[in-house]
Amino acid sequence: FPCDVVRNFSIIAHIDHGKSTLADRLLELTGTIQKKSSGGKNEQVLDKLKVERERGITVKAQTASMIHSFEGRSHLLNLIDTPGHVDFAWEVSRSLAACQGALLLVNSDALVPASLLIGERDLTIIPVLNKLDLPAADPERIASQMQSTLGINPKDIIAISAKTGKGVEAVLEAIIRRIPPPTARTDTPFKAFLFDSFYDKYRGVISLISVQGGVLRRGDKIASCHTRKRYEVTELGLMYPEEVPTKTLNAGQVGYIACNMKQSSEAHIGDTIHRVGEAVEPMAGFQPAKAMVFAGVYPIENSDFPKLEESINRLTLTDRSVTVQRESSTALGQGCRLGFLGTLHMDVFRQRLEDEYDANVIITAPTVPYKLVYQNHEVLISNPTDFPDVGDAGLRIKEVQEPVVKASIIVPEDYFGDMMELCFSHRAEELEHRYIDSGSGSSARIMLQCILPLTEIVTDFFDQLKSRSSGFASFDYEDAGYRKSDLSKMTFLLNGKPVDALALIVHKSAQEAVARQWVKKLHKVIPRQLFEVPIQAAIGKKVIARETLKAMRADVTAGLYGGHYERKMKHLENQKEGKRRMKKMGTVDLPQEAFFDILSTK
Ligand code: GDP
Ligand code: MG
Repeated sequence: FPCDVVRNFSIIAHIDHGKSTLADRLLELTGTIQKKSSGGKNEQVLDKLKVERERGITVKAQTASMIHSFEGRSHLLNLIDTPGHVDFAWEVSRSLAACQGALLLVNSDALVPASLLIGERDLTIIPVLNKLDLPAADPERIASQMQSTLGINPKDIIAISAKTGKGVEAVLEAIIRRIPPPTARTDTPFKAFLFDSFYDKYRGVISLISVQGGVLRRGDKIASCHTRKRYEVTELGLMYPEEVPTKTLNAGQVGYIACNMKQSSEAHIGDTIHRVGEAVEPMAGFQPAKAMVFAGVYPIENSDFPKLEESINRLTLTDRSVTVQRESSTALGQGCRLGFLGTLHMDVFRQRLEDEYDANVIITAPTVPYKLVYQNHEVLISNPTDFPDVGDAGLRIKEVQEPVVKASIIVPEDYFGDMMELCFSHRAEELEHRYIDSGSGSSARIMLQCILPLTEIVTDFFDQLKSRSSGFASFDYEDAGYRKSDLSKMTFLLNGKPVDALALIVHKSAQEAVARQWVKKLHKVIPRQLFEVPIQAAIGKKVIARETLKAMRADVTAGLYGGHYERKMKHLENQKEGKRRMKKMGTVDLPQEAFFDILSTK
């Protein structure tokens, strides 16, 4: 395939706008996969992981090539199926770097989230309106919205139904006509851009590359610009849609290589690959994604930790945007602190951990990284326990900053007041709004934008947004850096002794409410002791909320915690195991289950 018949493209879309369905239709229409006869359709061929099928989310970028005959010539179309949610922006940018164009896919009954448009790249965008078959589809209105929010010419928009296949042929034609072919040449030294990798039990690491120049053959000796390590190519080919070996990979093509690479870490995303003995200029790589949401993961049984850690390590081989650090807590034992790109990313990882490895785990409430600014340096803190107390180290800190996002919310105007309230109760700043429907009448919708602290979003914001707007609001956010904030660490004391696993970073405006809520929760969960136990919340030395757990009376045997829990405790005691698993917190005995209840997100 000479370069002029090659097209490299991605599909950019918000979750659920039909990206996987469209990808399948394209593969069918080009004969890359068989169309299932009546009975059923191919169910999202490119969504390979179980969690992707179940939740209908594309987690991992999947690449596939197809061959399409157009005006008498065979064209090689390379599709990179990218995840569309903002949490996965890293995956999106990785795949876009290997493309000259992208389909921007939008539901014809919703709106394009602006953050999906990755501005500066030199990319041809083909706007596609999907789900035309829906009764609520309103392509004219969406087209005018796309014009007003994204500056897209309505004439360029292709309206389709990925479900029925209507209009998909026109998409293929637009890919060939509008997206420029790659400009790479075959008569230059071999040079390729490594943009993804996965692990295969038999062949080792398989890398996906986009060839920027020259030709690669089986048996060639190649080297990585990043690690300087050398390899011999044992297999190469196209993703069609699974690996299909070929004799060569030419300039402009996208394909896979196997080269006896043993460790996933050797396949450095963004690396430049060249032939041994030939000098090439390395291409600009990627900024690795920064984890923005952290959570501790602990096994229910301490002895399961090695198994859990192994599962986590194996999972991170396929998702390298997750960061892993060991941590331990007196209450929960040995565990790991994982960093995620966002909350959806965290949920997906959790489900994969549970599904694929059958892991019995507890995941603590998510936190965000805070920045402590000292005179000459800055420190990022991902675990609240590490946050200095007011008064001691706190004195040398010039300011505390927290990550903020630029949030965009789109709602029918009837819900505007509720949304404003929701934003203000979550510390919104710089709120602005405008009408996005030029159309008249009851259907007018408003786009509301504001700066929100990330920590407000990782807890209950999304659920409240959905319930307060009866499900009509759509929400999207993008990173907006760090801002100064009045935050302090809240600790909890049982019988006067601080409990290490329980520390929260709380904004001044919420201190009292949070303190009261947590001491109440603790009061409910902690079983009575033989003596009276004060439960206190404190900022530094100052106690700001208190409950008192009354001493146990001899006749009180029931109703402390509800039947299920009681039975569990009795069972443990019978086995003499209960004793071992009771954690001493100063002078107070706490069953581990109480900690799980307090710290778990579920
Ligand atoms: P993705 O998250 O963007 O990959 O979206 P999917 O391809 O998984 O599609 C999300 C949902 O929308 C699935 O239930 C699809 O069956 C459905 N869907 C996709 N395209 C169409 C369409 O053209 N019409 C209708 N009615 N439903 C569609
Ligand atoms: Mg999908």
